[in-house]
Amino acid sequence: MEKIIEIQHLSKSFGANEVLKDIDFSVDKGEVVCIIGSSGSGKSTLLRCINLLEKPSGGQIIYKGENILDDQHDVYKYRQKLGMVFQQFNLFNNHNVLSNCMVGQIKLLKRSKAEAEEVAMKYLRVVGMDQYINAKPRQLSGGQKQRVAIARALSMEPDVMLFDEPTSALDPEMVGEVLKVMKELADSGLTMLVVTHEMGFAKEVSDRVVFMDKGVIAEEGSPEQIFNRPNQERTREFLKRTL
Ligand code: ADP
Ligand code: MG
Repeated sequence: MEKIIEIQHLSKSFGANEVLKDIDFSVDKGEVVCIIGSSGSGKSTLLRCINLLEKPSGGQIIYKGENILDDQHDVYKYRQKLGMVFQQFNLFNNHNVLSNCMVGQIKLLKRSKAEAEEVAMKYLRVVGMDQYINAKPRQLSGGQKQRVAIARALSMEPDVMLFDEPTSALDPEMVGEVLKVMKELADSGLTMLVVTHEMGFAKEVSDRVVFMDKGVIAEEGSPEQIFNRPNQERTREFLKRTL
């Protein structure tokens, strides 16, 4: 298996608060990994360290064999290879749907307008939002906004997609449409790292489940193993509380 991202001894502190402690973790090409765990266990910080929205306090992040925390490494190039989808969508509110999916391509990837539009339309079709290209974000439902946010990230044609609780801010009736799109992406072979509270999704879609507790990876394994035969007491406790 080809490792896309490998993390070694990653740590992160905010002041005296050590939020990530000596994390070792990797993602293979084509793999879908779900990260579960209680609020405050460090899941978002881990994702944010992986895409360098937070600067790790220690350790290494190896991307395709190169240490990207190395001073010489081009952080901007690296970050373009990671698509990020947030709980709060973070769309550009003054841009319409199509433009939201084009600006990054034009500014960062230097694509022509015509090419950017073609790519944006391709991914808007994938998420089923190609009928809404002229709408502004405020005219869309939460589920529609999140599907546009996914199309925007895909339009950069990243190697890995990172999702941080993409359905947590949605009304319950909109969760399904977003999870359906994510499942289709997973089935298409996209490499995905998903922080989620949707245990059904984690069970059904992931190749591997990572359980985080108090800044460490307490346990990881196949969804079948984690959900049916967890090795750790704290995994059992967590699952009992959520299921
Ligand atoms: P999770 O996503 O699992 O809920 P987080 O990674 O958001 O957990 O947070 C883990 C811990 O790190 C929490 O105690 C939180 O208060 C702290 N933390 C997160 N971001 C910051 C920050 N920017 N400054 C200070 N503390 C932070
Ligand atoms: Mg979080």
